[in-house]
Amino acid sequence: MPVFPDLRIQTVEKSRLDQVDFDNLGFGDDFSDHMFSMVFEDGRWQRPEILPFGPLPLHPSALSLHYGQAVFEGLKAFRGVDELVRIFRPDMNAGRLVESCRRLCIPSIEPEVFLAAIEQLIRLDHAWIPRLRGQSLYIRPIVFGTESHLEVRPARSFRFVVMTAPVRKYFQDDVKPIELKAEEKYTRAAPGGMGYAKTAGNYAASLYPGELGRNEGYAQVLWLDGAEHRYVEEVGAMNIFFKFKDAVVTPPLHGTILPGVTRDSVITLLKDEGMPVKERLVDIDEVIDGMHSGQLEEIFGAGTAAVISPVGAIAYKGKRHEMRANAAGPLTRKLYDTITGIQLGEVKDKFGWTRVVDVKAPASAAAAGD
Ligand SMILES: *Cc1c(COP(=O)(O)O)cnc(C)c1O
Repeated sequence: MPVFPDLRIQTVEKSRLDQVDFDNLGFGDDFSDHMFSMVFEDGRWQRPEILPFGPLPLHPSALSLHYGQAVFEGLKAFRGVDELVRIFRPDMNAGRLVESCRRLCIPSIEPEVFLAAIEQLIRLDHAWIPRLRGQSLYIRPIVFGTESHLEVRPARSFRFVVMTAPVRKYFQDDVKPIELKAEEKYTRAAPGGMGYAKTAGNYAASLYPGELGRNEGYAQVLWLDGAEHRYVEEVGAMNIFFKFKDAVVTPPLHGTILPGVTRDSVITLLKDEGMPVKERLVDIDEVIDGMHSGQLEEIFGAGTAAVISPVGAIAYKGKRHEMRANAAGPLTRKLYDTITGIQLGEVKDKFGWTRVVDVKAPASAAAAGD
């Protein structure tokens, strides 16, 4: 049974692919030709469509604009060294979207619908997957309330859209590790809040402190817990890891931290190597002390966009503290190489993380199926 027996596909008349400068990709500067779209009305998800990428009709009174009822995902498609197209752990994103939808009273997108939407889109736009090493096709699914209404309550109509964008490589050997500002005043999420959901509102809360940090020269904010501003939580769009001499440590998922796919991959890889990994509370003082004593050997962020990002300095209580070696450490490098190696089909995918998309099959295969 095809997942979308009724998929409607409207292709572009002329591709915009030749207008893209693949040597200078940004992150969301260019979008590929098509998008997937499906609306929820009358209590159910309606006929799925693939359309030319472009503006959507939206009422100014759409509930999500006023009350933030919007959730999203982020994952990537790669063109491997063997020319196969792979998506990395999309089942994890599908499962997380279900959880995010539940937290925000959004009707669920079934995981198989999520996966099929992405595969259909990639089949149609696979020529947009960049060829330069480190680049990829970023996949951004989003679900938001579209009902025109002003009362504060869950919307009754929604739209699910998947768009894709060819994006640059983040990690460069000569790139300086990022510097973080441990945030002592503002918080990203609190116990019982939406910290574990991938929702627009969490980012809205982070923008102002992020700008203040950037004005002081820090690339990103290192969030501390909402109650005491003492325990490390995560970094903007990345989870954080600390390699102490005796173990690799990352904060536990207690509801205020986004359960990252990259985070899970790092933990799995380290355990598989027999390295001690601990999910436990990390006191910011322990981090600062460790940086000075040398007990703390490496710090890195983990997230889909950058994969693994070395941290070179942290500002806390008005002082800047540097890592001893201000370069990506050996573990940081190794994790980056392993994860990107699996994504590109160079390293054996022993955990079955990648999903190969058969781009030779026409995008309408499912539609025409049976
Ligand atoms: C998406 C995201 C991450 C990273 O998750 P990945 O699945 O690894 O990309 C971390 N923190 C926040 C707040 C996020 O939104």
